[in-house]
Amino acid sequence: MPDVFADLVGQDEAVATLRHAAAAAAAVLRAAHPIAVGSGQAGVEGQSGVDPGAGMTHAWIFTGPPGSGRSVAARAFAAALQCAYGTGCGECPGCHTTMTGTHADVRLVVPEGLSIGVGEMRALVLRAASTPSGGRWQIVIIEDADRLTEAAGNALLKAIEEPPPRTVFLLCAPSTHPDDVSVTIRSRCRVVPLRQPPAAAVAEVLVRRDGIAPDVAQWAAAAAQGHVGRARRLARDPEARQRRDAVLAVPRRLTGVGAALDAASALIEAAEAEAEASVAEADAAERAALQTALGAGGTGRGAAGAMRGAAGQLKDLEKRQKSRATRAQRDALDRALVDLAGFYRDALTMALRAPVAPVHTDTAAMAEAGAQKWDAEGALRRLEAVLECRAAIEANVKPRIAVEAMMLTLWKG
Ligand SMILES: [Zn+2]
Repeated sequence: MPDVFADLVGQDEAVATLRHAAAAAAAVLRAAHPIAVGSGQAGVEGQSGVDPGAGMTHAWIFTGPPGSGRSVAARAFAAALQCAYGTGCGECPGCHTTMTGTHADVRLVVPEGLSIGVGEMRALVLRAASTPSGGRWQIVIIEDADRLTEAAGNALLKAIEEPPPRTVFLLCAPSTHPDDVSVTIRSRCRVVPLRQPPAAAVAEVLVRRDGIAPDVAQWAAAAAQGHVGRARRLARDPEARQRRDAVLAVPRRLTGVGAALDAASALIEAAEAEAEASVAEADAAERAALQTALGAGGTGRGAAGAMRGAAGQLKDLEKRQKSRATRAQRDALDRALVDLAGFYRDALTMALRAPVAPVHTDTAAMAEAGAQKWDAEGALRRLEAVLECRAAIEANVKPRIAVEAMMLTLWKG
């Protein structure tokens, strides 16, 4: 039986840190309840002057590029903290319920929209201060902590500055840059940097865990550029492969201004369609659930007030859904841009005759033709245009404007 860290691909250093911390955390609990240990081991540790908590702290930030496994690492660490053996064995109820998302003392915050609001954060911080029902740790995992609003960040900071004794905060963010995590929060946390896992390690986990054929796994791992979830989708989902094919056909289609603008429209519309499909099911389910909860109207005392409340709830839901749809669109567009960047990166390395494997083996011939035509300089300009487009969209430039500018540069060079 693999333990809880088994799916953390290519992150040996981070896993070593987390195992050490989990053991230290278990020692803290043993020191607090020496009777539970029986042998008095914890007492000996205490007497020898060794701090049983060394290696453990109450606030952590997991950083790394998207797909490197930030949330996988946070959840595995949470499981190891709740593990009956303090190791993350993968078998005990503490490990099992944490990994399946049903542990009563582990709360996972996944922002669906563009940001996590202050109301949500305050409620969370309040609940996180309660005594852990399982007797170990009260854990809050915040995925995409870079999407906290400033007010929400401040609410979180207060909790991190004066932590309840058994509460642990696990934050995930792309980096510790002040744009992602405030300097004050950063200063209170221990950072666990994750790296982009090598393609071979990603391919290995696809074969071992998902039963994907080795040649497909290798292709998908390279094409996904170290993004484990993306590699799995490419290997399994024919629609994801089709979308990628359409994106990689773009360079071939850029034959003039009109074609470049058409390509921009096609890219934006494909991202919109993909996003719509990805949120449609959740949207419908939420609307149905809310309607059921509100009942089919009603009369008599209190009904008018209830109706006002219902309108407000519906409006809140619509706002949340709209925000989520925008985020899904941006994510879909960003995936397309990453694929496109991979193509121009291939052309650049070929123009330089650099001895590295191409990202997209299936468009290697086209990248080689591009390398001949553009030279290294032209390939670099095009790669930079894609990266600038990503940065512009992240900085809230309207996607269509950013993508059109990029396409024109990709055409002209
Ligand atoms: Zn366990």
